[in-house]
Amino acid sequence: MSLAIHGGAGLISKDHFTDKELTEYRKGLREVLDRSKQMWLEGEEAISIVIECVRLLEDNPLFNAGKGSVLNSQGVVEMDASIMGPSSTHENYWGAGVSGLTQVKNPIYVANELRKMNQHSLLSGEGARNFAKNLGVKHLAPDSFITSKRKLQFQNFLKNKEITLDHGSVSSDKPYQEGQTVGAVCLDKKGNLAAATSTGGMTGKMDGRVSDSAIIGQGTWAHAKTLAISATGTGDHFIQICFCHRVHMRMLYEKLSLEQAIQEGLDELASIGGNGGAVAVDLEGNVSLLFNSGGMFRACFESKTGRETLDIF
Ligand code: ASP
Repeated sequence: MSLAIHGGAGLISKDHFTDKELTEYRKGLREVLDRSKQMWLEGEEAISIVIECVRLLEDNPLFNAGKGSVLNSQGVVEMDASIMGPSSTHENYWGAGVSGLTQVKNPIYVANELRKMNQHSLLSGEGARNFAKNLGVKHLAPDSFITSKRKLQFQNFLKNKEITLDHGSVSSDKPYQEGQTVGAVCLDKKGNLAAATSTGGMTGKMDGRVSDSAIIGQGTWAHAKTLAISATGTGDHFIQICFCHRVHMRMLYEKLSLEQAIQEGLDELASIGGNGGAVAVDLEGNVSLLFNSGGMFRACFESKTGRETLDIF
């Protein structure tokens, strides 16, 4: 079994945090890592493990998903999520994403219900919100998603009119923007892979903007022959280069290793001005945690080597 989680990547550095904040982030990641290892020991499937990891991170207001999501240009929380894993009716894996959810406590549940239908790949806007309502998943009042840090970021956006990664831009009049997109990947005991991602997107994004985190092949991907991967960073750049799917193609047809394939993807990303990273596992249980930005909130467990990592920079 191998498992990796992320809580976002971006142009971050140690100076942007107090020790107390860093401790809180590490605590959040540790909780998820411990819970997922326990689920693995109990023989749970990869798909259930990644859902639970993302659910815990969505519920933690430090991260930019579920509670704690960033605000769009209208000052509203609009959340995206996607998930991919083995399918009951298709030989290959099936993935689905949702975009523009507003009051759903756990967007990853909604994406997973769509995935299980094996029919559509992406639902957005009003249709996605109605789908979530009809599912009966928990909804919360809009205000309960918004933390004081997010309000501050939004005020900065109104001043500077600059669309930023939640953690992306730093200067004296722009306090460090913490809380990040979340994701998880897993290879389970049966050899099945799964990947999931959830985000509030970028501060000041246009309303209706769809992020890579909602789109199969861009921010999330899992395939029976290669890998499971969840990306984070400047999503529009990831979309331009079909980031996750291209990593899969490099492994499948160019026979690159997991790390080589992701490194090439990140180089391509940098060449068009993007930054970020990804967590991924392959069929042999190798884990990759590469990023080309200042840091990525990340943790992993690799059972074949016993390697365990929990790091930010
Ligand atoms: N990829 C996300 C987006 O573009 C942001 C992130 O990963 O932090 O909305």
